[in-house]
Amino acid sequence: MEALTKNKFEFHDNILNFSNKSFYYLESFSPMKIDALNKYDAIILDARDVEFARIILKKFRSSSAIEFYLKPIFLINSKANEDPLLKELIDGIIVSFDQIPETINDINQISIKIAQLESSTSNSFEVQLFKKVLNFMFTRETNTFTPYPDILSSIGYCYPTVSVNFETFEEAKVLELLEWAEKENLIWPDFLDRVYLCSNCKNGHLSYREICPNCDSANMRSEDLVHHFPCGYIGAISDFKNNVDTVLNCPKCTKNLRHIGVDYDKPSIINHCQNCNEVFQDYLVKAKCAHCKTDTDVQFLLSKNINVYKLTKKGRTAAVGGISASDFSLSNEVFGTVNLKTFATMMHYEQERIKNNPILSANIVIIYIENIFDLYRKIGKSKERELLAEFVNIVRDNIKPADFICINNPSVLSVCVNDTNLQSAQLMVMKITDKLEELVFNNFDRFALNVFTQTVELSKEQSFDKQLHILIKEIVEKG
Ligand SMILES: [Zn+2]
Ligand SMILES: [Zn+2]
Ligand SMILES: [Zn+2]
Repeated sequence: MEALTKNKFEFHDNILNFSNKSFYYLESFSPMKIDALNKYDAIILDARDVEFARIILKKFRSSSAIEFYLKPIFLINSKANEDPLLKELIDGIIVSFDQIPETINDINQISIKIAQLESSTSNSFEVQLFKKVLNFMFTRETNTFTPYPDILSSIGYCYPTVSVNFETFEEAKVLELLEWAEKENLIWPDFLDRVYLCSNCKNGHLSYREICPNCDSANMRSEDLVHHFPCGYIGAISDFKNNVDTVLNCPKCTKNLRHIGVDYDKPSIINHCQNCNEVFQDYLVKAKCAHCKTDTDVQFLLSKNINVYKLTKKGRTAAVGGISASDFSLSNEVFGTVNLKTFATMMHYEQERIKNNPILSANIVIIYIENIFDLYRKIGKSKERELLAEFVNIVRDNIKPADFICINNPSVLSVCVNDTNLQSAQLMVMKITDKLEELVFNNFDRFALNVFTQTVELSKEQSFDKQLHILIKEIVEKG
């Protein structure tokens, strides 16, 4: 590719090195795949093609890898546009390559901030995703989640820093994540607006219609009701009209109507259903969802506040200090499991038992579901308990009544398998793994679950806590 010459700043094959920084110039004809761009210090993204720029920006910012989602990105050739993502998720706009020196300071600031980020792995979907959002905000020195009206969003609004991680049709999940963060005292709300969503699928693209209370048809005609004072007759205005002139005549006493308020008035409106002929005063208002087609009486729509959120002190420090979310107690809610504390106590007794009798043995099984959070992103967090209960059932079906199961966190299960030799235990675990993968594949749109397992004999020497810690660390790093 020939060099692009813009005064003294030249990109050769889309690459420019300046002041110890490497820049990659990305335009709609660029040959390189995005996956290979993590090694550059900054991206200069050509926004002549707005749709292209939007797709690229979304690819970077929605990645779960820090070297992509925190990459400094500057727009060039950016026309004025109202796209919220292109406004909020870039690091600046340059009008020519001559301005590249002006980006150096920003790039340095971002990299200093990145070095301060806390990086422990998280155990829940909300923590994992919200930490990512906080990392972006911390490195960009912003404190506010501003909602933008957005026709692409399924709820009509988007919060760019959060929404970029979801598909536009699952925007309601953005509100759920923000509600979670509010409950965790990470953010603080200021009311801005309210939206109404389909109670079935949480979509906000609704068509509101006045409909007949008898047959639900929207095919109805409304007209004024007329009250003729001299004779007391009340009827629809069409009863007073004739085909010849515009004079209104009373159908009962045949007098002409003269002045509204003097000899007649219009006390209300009457509706006539063209479908079932019903005549009625009060119609219903229903909202039909463009997404799932459910027609809902407006009083039953889901109402959600659209707030401007600001980070609290806890939220502002969480990027560097980590998020300590409320403890979840899944074991208490999933039948047939014990919590980690009870599990550790039972394993301690197990160790004592096998120490005293050499023919007894026990195995620990760790089941790590590496991409469980990707699955929840797809099917919704509300399915978590239900799904974990299914997983536990599968494990339970394959072990003996005296064996026991612990849910360490939503992605890790541990099982104690008594008095079985290691080889049979390993075979059994393979069977369980297949069943888990099969369950998810068949029920959730052929989703491929990544299950990693570790089956070892319970050590008689090492403390159980230490063994468990090492086992989980090994398996999580391997996965
Ligand atoms: Zn009707
Ligand atoms: Zn009359
Ligand atoms: Zn719907």
